[in-house]
Amino acid sequence: MIIEPRVRGFICTTAHPAGCAANVREQIAYVTQQGTIANCPKRVAVLGCSTGYGLASRIVATFAGGAETIGVSFERPPTEKRTSTAGWYNNRAFEIEARKIGRSPVTLEGDAFSDAMKTDFINSVRETFGQIDLLVYSMAAPTRTDPDTGEIYRSAIKPLGAPVDIKTLNTETGEVYETTITPASEEEAAATVAVMGGDDWMRWIDQLSDAGVLAPGFQTLNYTYIGSELTWPIYWNGTLGRAKVDLDRKAEELRARLGKDAARVVALKAVVTQASSAIPVVPLYGTVLFKVMEQLGHHEGCIEQIDRLFRTRLGPNVDLDEAQRIRLDDWELSPEVQAEVLRRWPLLTTETLGELADLPGFRSQFLRLFGFGIDGIDYAQDVDPRVVLA
Ligand code: NAD
Repeated sequence: MIIEPRVRGFICTTAHPAGCAANVREQIAYVTQQGTIANCPKRVAVLGCSTGYGLASRIVATFAGGAETIGVSFERPPTEKRTSTAGWYNNRAFEIEARKIGRSPVTLEGDAFSDAMKTDFINSVRETFGQIDLLVYSMAAPTRTDPDTGEIYRSAIKPLGAPVDIKTLNTETGEVYETTITPASEEEAAATVAVMGGDDWMRWIDQLSDAGVLAPGFQTLNYTYIGSELTWPIYWNGTLGRAKVDLDRKAEELRARLGKDAARVVALKAVVTQASSAIPVVPLYGTVLFKVMEQLGHHEGCIEQIDRLFRTRLGPNVDLDEAQRIRLDDWELSPEVQAEVLRRWPLLTTETLGELADLPGFRSQFLRLFGFGIDGIDYAQDVDPRVVLA
């Protein structure tokens, strides 16, 4: 079939196998060019390994850090008439490239929130690497089934307390408009914490620890977003922020149990991923931020951020913030970047968007997540969506 992007709001329901593979290879090329990372942990697990920050973590650990990795992600496989998720193609492209440099990656596809997946994971670690030195938790999911009760929690990306009037962007039409977002109920807020907070992270560490697969000196990282005051009404002061505060609390509990550097929350910058495209205000903020950061020579995507994390922030004596987090959002939140984003914000309208922000760049990054718009790929070619390209 001829595979084209089919975009519905903030999701794309198709993915291109060759485009996804090219995307993975581009990230590998970037990391390889930066040189090796001597002190990288050598047995690394990544939960949420197939796209965004998780995929970047797996690539950096493997191709610059020389690590063996085990990854977990949730995918829909392809059929004769339907493409898979982008992550399914990415996982396979990653494995092919990792084997070329002599690694033996293990990838498990299924629900990481379930205990069955945790058991499979433990069995795989025992059969392969024995123990793990680093676990990166990079999951972003809309729902989670509670493994004890079977209850399904659905996250809601909403403010807390009062309604919020905020400027937003329709990324399909380019229209900038004011919208009112109603606040979450207590139940919605609690469900969001159950999905995106630290419960499942703790459950993973507890079960891996009980199974004896955590190596001495084991470390775990979990990713967060704090961002600028422009996004706080929806993000940090909203349901997702409450879930992220829960991560900070869980990290503290884990440090108390496992050692003072054993668990860290890492604050990363805003980038275009499947998860972030679904958050109101983030696309508009992102289009302005990316333009400003490019103009100031500070551009970073997932791979550049995670490369900087592994290279400069994982050793002993790294700088931490007041909540004991590692910060990689320093360039996004630098006074010069934020002053310029804040100056442009009130001026943003449908008419001024082209001059003040970078919507074409945002759209192209979004399509790239699904393997579209990549140089050198022949999109007119008839492809079997089930074929994995070596
Ligand atoms: P993403 O949508 O690109 O990736 C999410 C990953 O989670 C995918 O690999 C997906 O398969 C996996 N996943 C989802 N549900 C799963 C399940 N039930 N079982 C197994 N795997 C599952 O997301 P992302 O933007 O890279 O986000 C990863 C983390 O980074 C999140 O904690 C997010 O808050 C954080 N973060 C993101 C941004 C941003 O701008 N995108 C900024 C800072 C921090």
